[in-house]
Amino acid sequence: MEGDCDLSKEDSRKVIVVILMGAPGSGKTTFCNDVMSTALRPWVRICQDSIANGKAGTKSQCLKSAAEALKHGKSVFIDRCNLDREQRVEFVKLGGPQVDVHAVVLDLPAKLCISRSVKRTGHEGNLQGGKAAAVVNRMLQKKELPKLSEGYSRITFCQNETDVLDAVNTYRLLGPSDNLSSGCFGQKSTDSKVQVGIMKFLKKVDVPNNVASNGNSLQDSVNRKQNTEKDSSSAESEKINTCIRNTVEKVTEGSNKMEGSFGGGDSWNDIPTLAFPSISTADFQFSHEKASDIIVEQVEEFLNKGENVRLVLVDLTHGSHMLSLVGAKAAKKNIDSRKFFTVVGDITKIYTERGLRCNVIANAANWRLRPGGGGVNAAIFSAAGEALEIATKEQGGTLAPGKSVAIPLPPSSPLYKREGVTHVIHVLGPNMNPQRPNCLRNDYIKGCNVLREAYSSLFKSFASIVREQNTLKESSKNFGPGSSDSHKNLIEQFPNTDQKIKREGCYESERNKKSKALPFEQIVMDDECGHSGDTSAMSQPNENMSMSSVGDVHDGKVQQKNEKIDRDVKKSWGSWAQALYHIAMHPEQHKDNLLEILDDVVVLYDLYPKAKRHLLVLARRNGLDRLADVQKEHLQLLRTMHSVGLKWAEKFLVDDASLIFRLGYHSAPSMRQLHLHVISQDFNSSHLKNKKHWNSFNTAFFRDSVDVIEEIENQGKAILNSDDKLLSMELRCHRCRSAHPNIPRLKAHISNCRVPFPAALLQNGCLVHAPSRPVCEA
Ligand code: AMP
Repeated sequence: MEGDCDLSKEDSRKVIVVILMGAPGSGKTTFCNDVMSTALRPWVRICQDSIANGKAGTKSQCLKSAAEALKHGKSVFIDRCNLDREQRVEFVKLGGPQVDVHAVVLDLPAKLCISRSVKRTGHEGNLQGGKAAAVVNRMLQKKELPKLSEGYSRITFCQNETDVLDAVNTYRLLGPSDNLSSGCFGQKSTDSKVQVGIMKFLKKVDVPNNVASNGNSLQDSVNRKQNTEKDSSSAESEKINTCIRNTVEKVTEGSNKMEGSFGGGDSWNDIPTLAFPSISTADFQFSHEKASDIIVEQVEEFLNKGENVRLVLVDLTHGSHMLSLVGAKAAKKNIDSRKFFTVVGDITKIYTERGLRCNVIANAANWRLRPGGGGVNAAIFSAAGEALEIATKEQGGTLAPGKSVAIPLPPSSPLYKREGVTHVIHVLGPNMNPQRPNCLRNDYIKGCNVLREAYSSLFKSFASIVREQNTLKESSKNFGPGSSDSHKNLIEQFPNTDQKIKREGCYESERNKKSKALPFEQIVMDDECGHSGDTSAMSQPNENMSMSSVGDVHDGKVQQKNEKIDRDVKKSWGSWAQALYHIAMHPEQHKDNLLEILDDVVVLYDLYPKAKRHLLVLARRNGLDRLADVQKEHLQLLRTMHSVGLKWAEKFLVDDASLIFRLGYHSAPSMRQLHLHVISQDFNSSHLKNKKHWNSFNTAFFRDSVDVIEEIENQGKAILNSDDKLLSMELRCHRCRSAHPNIPRLKAHISNCRVPFPAALLQNGCLVHAPSRPVCEA
């Protein structure tokens, strides 16, 4: 046959010895547990660290136990490092006419293995903590990749977590009579990087000669050798994982495992991925049989629409009944196991613990969309922090059974920062639990309809998030080769979360990072842009959104002139700091989010308002990135910005006469493109979180628009107070100047402080208030 599964009768009851190979921390035990938790054939895991009644034993004890298990028709995992040939030769000998010997190589980056080993606790072999790094490094230097000629009928190389998941699925879904075809699978590249990675990690360890001089040599030779060793079936394709079914599949010759179905060379971890729990089967006691049918049916229907996505059903428990049922049913239906698979783990830690990037996770919510309860709902709300609760509340209301609601996670949420989760979709299924309100009392006709509706709504919500993120991605692609490394890193780090990953939560650290990088960046500005190179006014990456093509300016000539500058400027502003620039240059693409678009300015709400009312007035002028760029020729523009800002402040005052506004610029803005802050002085906002936020609006760092205009008129330049010290000054009330130890205390104070504002602000006309409410009497 041309397919990968060989189901001939005489072979049909073969058992398998899978010899795992990999450094400590490469995930061998997790691999075994994942397979065994929902396997379709019996497996035994043999681990030398625990072979003697839970304690470390000998190799011969392992061999004996393995032989015993095989004799009883059980397939076996040999869970040892087995990194060199000598270590594994005895295990290969377990093979025979009824016993296939496979190798699974967990050839993951050394850095990852080391950091996992260092961090873990309770390891069977007690290899953890500080000593682990050196041990892993030493072991990896002895690594000898397996070859078919050692006696394996099949070798699977896993070089990243997605490969691992594929391999897990392969073995998990292997029924008692199924066999996998022979050959080498999954080997992609040399491991030179791995070795370099170790050296970087350990810093003090010498680079061995063979690595330093020719890091590729070992793997290259293995590659060449193995290519010649590949038999015809293995040469067919690496698509083996699609053929882990109980049926025979034809695989196109030469097709490539990953790119084949996704096109465009996307790697699997770049694919938008939704992790979801089983809805209604835990607390709401829905029948597992029926629920698993519905999941598989809905998944199939959704994937058939051809969306370029992955769906992952997650359950915390090893041996989860739901996962087994769904896995088996999906296999039966031949659903592509690369696009839909199950994972045992905590849905809030899929990336950090399992290396699987899921940019969206679903929550089995309650109708009130409240935290608490138990299970997934409690876990997600707690992992996402207060941010999810607030964002959920902002959406308002409750959720009806069968419905879902997508909540964009604020970047400040730990789930966003740590896991790269950009959205949580709350879903509510039917209730079959009489202890809970609105029980359907066994009405499975209604129940199934509601559950179907719930999954369908969930997948629809996910699809629309994906479309939205793709649009963002597209616009960032236009950004072209000038796009900064940091941006690339971000995309690599959390490809599906796009630029959003660096936003509010990262404000301070990014500001600091950036200032460390100033010398280099300043050179770029000085030499190539002819700017003053005022380091203090350099960009500081901050909250951001999208960025995109540039140079689309109103005036063609200006455009040409600015193209070079623009490229250079992009280098010096972190790409995450370009959102306002993009909005100013392409307001038509952001219409829905803009309050006003004029020839010279656009007005929008600050995405992370630091007060009840906080607007930005952006200058639509290319090359005008910040206050430091402003010269006399921009006076008119500054006046326009001021008067537009004033107009909006006055509008708000009509609705709420208690507000008082201040209009001004940050001396060293974090976002590119000159923007005027129009901010109410209540500072009543959950986005105002730290000293820097406060001080950026309440020290000399904030330059009142009226003063700036005057300075430009008189001196042709605005005064910039961009010393970082201003941002770390003690917290003082902006009215009475009393000092406060932290933001919550300060906020509590300012909510009640009615002392008149400082004279400097009052006299210079820096405050905008309702005519009926003079600020000194506020
Ligand atoms: P600055 O420190 O003066 O550069 O402040 C930049 C402001 O832009 C901050 O108040 C942010 O909250 C705000 N901001 C960041 N990204 C966006 C965005 N995409 N849309 C609107 N406002 C944003």
